[in-house]
Amino acid sequence: MEKIQMTTPLVEMDGDEMTRILWKDIKDVLLLPYIELKTEYYDLGLPERERTADQVTVDSAEATKKYGVAVKCATITPNAQRLDEYNLTEMWKSPNGTIRAILDGTVFRAPIMVKGISPVVKTWKQPITIARHAYGDVYRATEYRVPGPGVAELVFSGADGKDFRQTIYNFECAGVLQGQYNKDSSITSFARSCFQYAIDTRQDLWFSTKDTISKKYDHTFKDIFQDIYDAEYKDQFERLGIEYFYTLIDDAVARVIRSQGGFIWACKNYDGDVMSDMVSTAFGSLAMMTSVLVSPDGKYEYEAAHGTVTRHYYRYLEGENPSTNPMATLFAWTGALAKRGELDGIPALADFARKLERASIATIESGVMTKDLAGLWEGAAPAKSVTTAEFLQAIRENLDKALAG
Ligand code: NAP
Ligand code: MG
Repeated sequence: MEKIQMTTPLVEMDGDEMTRILWKDIKDVLLLPYIELKTEYYDLGLPERERTADQVTVDSAEATKKYGVAVKCATITPNAQRLDEYNLTEMWKSPNGTIRAILDGTVFRAPIMVKGISPVVKTWKQPITIARHAYGDVYRATEYRVPGPGVAELVFSGADGKDFRQTIYNFECAGVLQGQYNKDSSITSFARSCFQYAIDTRQDLWFSTKDTISKKYDHTFKDIFQDIYDAEYKDQFERLGIEYFYTLIDDAVARVIRSQGGFIWACKNYDGDVMSDMVSTAFGSLAMMTSVLVSPDGKYEYEAAHGTVTRHYYRYLEGENPSTNPMATLFAWTGALAKRGELDGIPALADFARKLERASIATIESGVMTKDLAGLWEGAAPAKSVTTAEFLQAIRENLDKALAG
């Protein structure tokens, strides 16, 4: 069979530990035999970040801006222990944080669903994607521990000389105080990323805040979303037969639990932090959760939601044959390849990516899976728990059948 040709390179961001091993195996077994893979390679592994003083992370983000689509391996975010382990001169920042700051995007997280592993919530038949606004609010708040009686005020000194001043509370005893902010520009980017992603994936978009209580702060989020929807996206949504709808967060929570899934739930920063853990746990496994960063101007960075699986890596270094689940990392590749195919008008590439996804799902549904999933399996026949290498080989056999048929 002739290999599929690419025209524009994918931005390839390699990473660390167990996922770095998975990365190479996925390419060797499932991609390189079928695709004349064209990538611009950036090594975001910690040794190379150290060597380049983290310039490589910035370069990879800039390349994503240039080419439009990136695929990223999980990377170590250094802490004190890593400083020693890797002999670092500095505690380099989280690559994901750096990339997000440059691309100014929103993170969408969606589970990969398979028959035989059911969500805790019985009604969920399709994935629920959480879109989390990753800027501001409580994550950038200024806090104060009020020591005793006194007046707390909200003061804004306008650049134009117009000031605002209002009493927050007249404390009669000790207490706590917090100042939060967000920016119209960031909320606008968030809204555009959400509408764009809903169009790309042809799913309804839900958005929820607490605007009945927060009449200025949360209400501004609601208004910005509605204004942008009406002005820029309403026609496209109607043409595609998808829906945008806003509801109060309490109502959204109740509806999500009763729903069948199959939509995107956009959340403010804190809500998204909490709800994405709830939703991913209820769907079953972190190893089956994909993640994509979408910038407001339509740049995409695909990755797995999990980390570098350090515990498995240390055991691998001691000679253990790993049974680490490659699904989320594989879906990062297929997501990126399909998007590249779509943008460049190469249907064969997008088609291959979808067939590879189906082959990997079919492998699990046939009862062959890594150890983490075997424990969740509810299929009729018992699960066959295999190593990562065996699992990738089984996917390849299914893929070859699909390509031949
Ligand atoms: P982790 O790598 O996600 O792993 C936590 C545990 O979850 C693993 O020990 C394993 O459980 C299970 N797990 C996760 N992915 C799995 C997979 N693909 N297959 C099977 N089991 C899987 O989180 P962590 O151990 O907290 O973090 C490790 C490193 O990753 C840290 O240095 C952190 O900075 C980094 N990190 C990077 C990203 C990113 O780049 N996006 C995200 C999060 C964390 P068992 O050991 O019980 O099998
Ligand atoms: Mg969290």
